[in-house]
Amino acid sequence: MTPDALVEELKKRRVSLTAHGDEIKFSAPKGAVDAVLRRAMQANKQALFAYARATDAPHVAARPSKKFSLSVPRPALAPLIDPDWRPNHSFLQWVERDKGYLLDQLQIAKVFERAEGAHMWTSEGAQILDCLSQYGSLPFGHNPPEIWDALEECRASGRPAFSANGLSDAAGALAARLIGLWPEAGFDGVVFTNSGAESLEAAIKLARAATGRAALLSAKGGFHGLTIGALGVAGSDSYREGFAVPVDPRDRVPYGDVEALEAAFEAEPRRFAALMLEPLQGEAGIIDPPAGYLARARELCDAHGTLLVLDEVQSGLGRTGEMFASQYHGVIPDIMTLAKALGGGVMPVGATLYNARARSEAFGLRHSSTFAGGALAASAGLAALDYLTEDNCALLAHVRKTGAFLRARLEALQSRFPDFITGLSGRGMMQGIRLDFASLHEKPGLLGLVTQQNLTIHLVVSHLLNKGGVRLAPSFSAGDVLRIQPPLTVREDELEPLFAALEATLGALRAGDTGEVLAHLIGVEDRAPSEAKPPVTGPRPTIEARPAQAGEGRFAFVVHPLDIADFARLDPGLGGVEHGKLAGLVDRLSHFIDPFPIERLEIAGSGGARAYGELILVPHTPDVLMRMPAAKAEEEFGLAVDVAHERGARVVGLGGFSSIVTRGGMGLIAPKRPSLTSGNAYTSIIAAQAIEAGMARRGQALAQTRVAILGAAGMVGRATALLAAQKAGHIALVGNPNRVEAVRERGLAVAVELVRGMRAFAALEAPAPGSVASALSTMAELSDAAAAIALEEAGRIAIAPPLTQATKAAHAIILATNSTERFLTPAHVRQGALVCDVSRPFNVHPDVITERPDVEVIEGGLVKPREGLKGPTLAGPDDTHIFACAAETMLWSLEGAYARVHPLGCMEPARLLELSRIGQKHGFDLAMVPMIEE
Ligand code: PLP
Repeated sequence: MTPDALVEELKKRRVSLTAHGDEIKFSAPKGAVDAVLRRAMQANKQALFAYARATDAPHVAARPSKKFSLSVPRPALAPLIDPDWRPNHSFLQWVERDKGYLLDQLQIAKVFERAEGAHMWTSEGAQILDCLSQYGSLPFGHNPPEIWDALEECRASGRPAFSANGLSDAAGALAARLIGLWPEAGFDGVVFTNSGAESLEAAIKLARAATGRAALLSAKGGFHGLTIGALGVAGSDSYREGFAVPVDPRDRVPYGDVEALEAAFEAEPRRFAALMLEPLQGEAGIIDPPAGYLARARELCDAHGTLLVLDEVQSGLGRTGEMFASQYHGVIPDIMTLAKALGGGVMPVGATLYNARARSEAFGLRHSSTFAGGALAASAGLAALDYLTEDNCALLAHVRKTGAFLRARLEALQSRFPDFITGLSGRGMMQGIRLDFASLHEKPGLLGLVTQQNLTIHLVVSHLLNKGGVRLAPSFSAGDVLRIQPPLTVREDELEPLFAALEATLGALRAGDTGEVLAHLIGVEDRAPSEAKPPVTGPRPTIEARPAQAGEGRFAFVVHPLDIADFARLDPGLGGVEHGKLAGLVDRLSHFIDPFPIERLEIAGSGGARAYGELILVPHTPDVLMRMPAAKAEEEFGLAVDVAHERGARVVGLGGFSSIVTRGGMGLIAPKRPSLTSGNAYTSIIAAQAIEAGMARRGQALAQTRVAILGAAGMVGRATALLAAQKAGHIALVGNPNRVEAVRERGLAVAVELVRGMRAFAALEAPAPGSVASALSTMAELSDAAAAIALEEAGRIAIAPPLTQATKAAHAIILATNSTERFLTPAHVRQGALVCDVSRPFNVHPDVITERPDVEVIEGGLVKPREGLKGPTLAGPDDTHIFACAAETMLWSLEGAYARVHPLGCMEPARLLELSRIGQKHGFDLAMVPMIEE
């Protein structure tokens, strides 16, 4: 295999590579790399290095799935961030490109021009109540004058900002004040740091140096910062993924579980240097430990020579209403980490306090951090402690009182929204609201959809900010908890907008008022509350996967909305939103929404045959799909196929444009994927049947019928022409009206293929007298190409004639193009003709329906299953009809003939005849559904 061929093969099999030093690692779908490929990869190592570096393909598992709820690994090809995204701010462009993209799409990323106390003001002048406080780092709100004064005093003093190896009065004083905050704890030393994570790093080093042990026991859900050491004790794997941070399962216990803690110590009594816990878990979703838990932790540490580290980075310095959250539990740690509030909301300052048991020369002689404990940081710290402790710690009493008020109001809110608020937790100015939007799952429409994709809480945060003027965030690890952390100084009256905003947002959600929830994203300001009732039909997103059942066929059908208006149809709450704005919204949201099952279908065939299938929606319109880079489209639909497969489908039909934008579906073929079908064969069979039925109605002999096939070079066009040529007297092969260049040449190739097909057909079935195929039977001595020309000369076929000429002469017009335009106008059509529009979106102009009552316009490619179909379906235009392409998928699964599914693009006559027979056998009838003008 040449290196190039190998690379192509790897792409095809969706193998992604990463170079690690002089090693290459690959990740691939199961079974994609066999022994042959492995050997080829070994032989071409150098070329693969170049390829891996050029594509810089991240490891598949290194990036979380865009689909928050389905566990399908995202192939490396399509990043979460839309490559076409053009950040409109240098911060987004250079600093927060990835996270910023998500925040920007949800309109959460704002420029704040001014901030004071509990409020911030956007560049547009909106006043925002800050209930996030930089993750609890603004104890006194924004820009507290007390801290700035201290910094200015520091400047005016002329003392050095840094004085390594000298003696810093400020740092010394701050250390003494910190230790004095909790004299009973017996702290004996302080390590200054610049952040919470750095405080944790110092704690880890202190503990290891003092005990001579390496292992660190910590809690699931725990969060201690994102440096490598702190990641080692993080309680969620997602933070570690891709950063090569080793963890040992023996070192992690569930938070709050005394028995698990005891078991961990018992299993290896002398294993742990430290037990590291938050006295109130923050990022895990504001989780209080059960009574007695921390006390037992203290005992176990004492019994086993393990140091107890309590991380008060977030909970410390007054946030919970005590100076330290540990004090609620009466538990004294050996090491305590601080940061956040210590800088007074202005300077980054951290500190790790430790007692004599944690002290060691090994640490003291070898640890340092250049900027830590600088004069400015220490001055800010001193001023912060002044503020916190003045008036006999009046601020702490204020936090307890305001915290109780906050809790009471949240409880009142919970009693009004028990369907959404399932729990309240925390203390003081560190509280959490646990939200559960499961009740929205059952809501059809967009809200149900975004709920299924776990997007609702982000929309809630966006709505609270943009409409309610309140800044909040979900906790990092628990996506369902809104953390409420206003400045400690906030007044009760200042919190009113928080309650009003929560009330309004949850109220709009409960009413199913999608328009209101999304109005700011759509750009519809001050929209009156929606008049529209919540939708009653439409996709219901939570569809449980169904286990396989004996004797039941399994299929899936991949679909996508046909136009933007489909989204509004999906959700009447969006009714009245103007097309352009809806398009903008869909643009914003669809990138976050992975293919998902929207509908289940059950179908019966003859002889008790039955099949179950699901519709998998890819949320992009044809316009978007046609603009999408091919690789991205293949990735998107590939994911849909994987979702279908994971949910049990044995054959997957590619609806709408899904085969068009994936090289006829070829780009989706991969080992272990289920059989794929475009459904083109059965669509063609049904289109050909429509011509027959239409002409029979008119009493028009088929031998005298002129058929114009628009889109004759496409799959459906070619097969329909072939089937029609068995009976009709004349066939015009019209190319794609959008691509007139090279039409003749292309048309000739199509005509030659038609001849070849007719000759193959003749071996199976005699053509009808007077048909194009019967004319061909007299030309046995001619080559395929010569016969094509001869048929044209004999006036039996037209090769790439001008559009109007062909359609004006035709008794039956079949439209099977991939054009998204409605180009067939009244002037194109012959008196009394049949127009069968197989294209979606349609190609027939609505004027043909209104201005030409003589013409019969039907929605082509529709089938009516005789045995009936269970459930309203998007696999067809209404509840009784289905698209022939979907029907083909169903037929193969009713037949249980997965191995015989037509390979994509196969139009062999024998196969067409077989499929046609299967369709008849299972009672799938042609449906002549008149097209009506919308
Ligand atoms: N520890 C806890 C408990 C925290 O909540 C945080 C941050 O949220 C950290 C450590 C890390 O702090 P930083 O972001 O300053 O590194």
